[in-house]
Amino acid sequence: MKIIMLGAPGAGKGTQAKMLAKEYGIPHISTGDIFRANIKNGTQLGMEAKKYMDQGLLVPDELTVKILLDRVAQEDCKNGYVLDGFPRTIPQAEVLDQALNNLGDQIDYAIDVDVPDENIINRMSGRRACLSCGATYHVVHIPPKAEGVCDTCGQALVLRDDDKPETVKSRLEVYHKQTQPLIEFYSKKGVLRSVDGTVDMQDVFAAIKAILS
Ligand code: AMP
Repeated sequence: MKIIMLGAPGAGKGTQAKMLAKEYGIPHISTGDIFRANIKNGTQLGMEAKKYMDQGLLVPDELTVKILLDRVAQEDCKNGYVLDGFPRTIPQAEVLDQALNNLGDQIDYAIDVDVPDENIINRMSGRRACLSCGATYHVVHIPPKAEGVCDTCGQALVLRDDDKPETVKSRLEVYHKQTQPLIEFYSKKGVLRSVDGTVDMQDVFAAIKAILS
């Protein structure tokens, strides 16, 4: 099963994508995580991507598309995957579509996790991330066992630069302009499904599972 998670930054699509990947035994692929791993390792790609990410802008399609196509061509993706944060522009969606077409394949579902902007701004200021292993928490909704410390690897949790309020506002603008048109793109293909992302995350998950079953 090949699933795309759509939704504004902070809509909870990453959390849902991880839960789905576990439930269906398929890889969770986040282009944001791939960029962050590259930044941490000081690669050329990481240094280039960081310039855009710190400003809340999208990393150019040329850089993003290649890493994604390389990743989905790996062996563990042969039974499907959940894409989280890709595509984010119409050209990215077209390249993915074409690559899948060439294999006689296609996306099964594009799930839009719908959350109004006001909720997003409130949520993101409470988000905390572990820069070491990529785990994410929320001070109120998904708190770590010990305050400020990652449950998984014990490292300190931080408010990511791109989750700071001023950056969140630019990311939402970028989302509405560049990413939201994908809702129509996948709707025309007949694979779009929307869920209410404002409810409890377990209820969002149940709604998505009902769509996929
Ligand atoms: P995320 O963790 O998905 O919220 O991504 C964090 C940041 O990485 C975004 O704000 C973008 O700067 C960059 N990014 C992640 N995925 C993409 C993508 N598909 N296209 C362009 N930029 C991306």
